Amino acid sequence: MHDVIIIGAGPAGLSAAFWCEELGLDTLVLEQAEQVGGQLHRVYNPIGNYLGLKTRNGRELLELFTKDVDEAEFDLWTEVSVASVDLKAKRIALHSGESLQAIALVIATGVRPRELGVPGEKEFIGKGMIESGTRDRHLFAGKDVCVVGGGDAAVENALLLAEVCPTVTLVHRGKRLRARRELAERLRSTHCITVFTESVITRIIGDEDHVEAVEVLRKQGLKPFQIAVRGVLIRIGVAPNTELFKEQLEMDEKGFVAVNSEQETSVPMVFAIGDVSNPLAPTISSATGAGATAAKVIANRLNVR
Ligand SMILES: Cc1cc2nc3c(=O)[nH]c(=O)nc-3n(C[C@H](O)[C@H](O)[C@H](O)COP(=O)(O)OP(=O)(O)OC[C@H]3O[C@@H](n4cnc5c(N)ncnc54)[C@H](O)[C@@H]3O)c2cc1C
Repeated sequence: MHDVIIIGAGPAGLSAAFWCEELGLDTLVLEQAEQVGGQLHRVYNPIGNYLGLKTRNGRELLELFTKDVDEAEFDLWTEVSVASVDLKAKRIALHSGESLQAIALVIATGVRPRELGVPGEKEFIGKGMIESGTRDRHLFAGKDVCVVGGGDAAVENALLLAEVCPTVTLVHRGKRLRARRELAERLRSTHCITVFTESVITRIIGDEDHVEAVEVLRKQGLKPFQIAVRGVLIRIGVAPNTELFKEQLEMDEKGFVAVNSEQETSVPMVFAIGDVSNPLAPTISSATGAGATAAKVIANRLNVR
């Protein structure tokens, strides 16, 4: 029996773990990936908005976050596969057969990129699917590309790719872009970018080795048409990793966990922190802050101080 089990070791889970340790709580952290850090592994751009620290990318910030992890007193298990969670009983079953229990559970499972769910999307990974404009644009320099989405991330990536690609086609399902005004204005004044609103990608097409085109369907159009591209980057938002907890606690319609100001969910002594419970302002600083809040509340409840 542990005081606290934290599921997920991104910025939120790591912050909660260090705080739990400081507050004298017996803590176990479960991470499904080989390494801790969550989305920080996918941040290739410089991070300049975490108070007091500027880093070249997410990995550099992660190194700072984890420099004391080897000496930490909390238990950290990586490559763990959780089979089921009984939130009321605070019991976790692992696929390895082990059963774990705690007084408090902390859900810090974060989010993952949403997928289009169209043919070709998975098949062309490594053959034309672009993971990051910052990281991959030199690979696509001189090639025509397509970006899917209409928010800040999609437009930022379209602008980055436009610096090196002859044409960038932005395909957005909605009527208007959701990106902030400054980005949308830059987009409009970048001549090599063509925007298709109220349009969806229905298929990504190519041969054995690479992407050759995307198939686009306009809302008013009767038939899809093809645009020749060599790269496709998808930024259509994120989905919370909450499948394990479905029907056990309150969530919004997209599956983000509802919490109160103490980060507690609708199940007593079950907390949710970071992006998984923060659809409005998902940032590293709010994730680490929420980790501190949850740990303090748990420590107060358990009277360990
Ligand atoms: C490209 C990019 C750029 C960004 N730039 C910035 C920026 O400049 N500034 C900023 O503040 N934020 C930025 N962010 C957002 C920031 O990375 C997130 O807000 C932050 O990582 C959220 O931390 P988290 O711990 O809540 O979730 P995550 O980082 O998503 O971590 C969740 C962890 O939980 C694990 N997990 C999931 N399910 C399970 C399970 N069932 N069992 C065990 N473990 C599980 C995952 O493997 C992962 O390690 C960026 C994100 C991206 C993708």
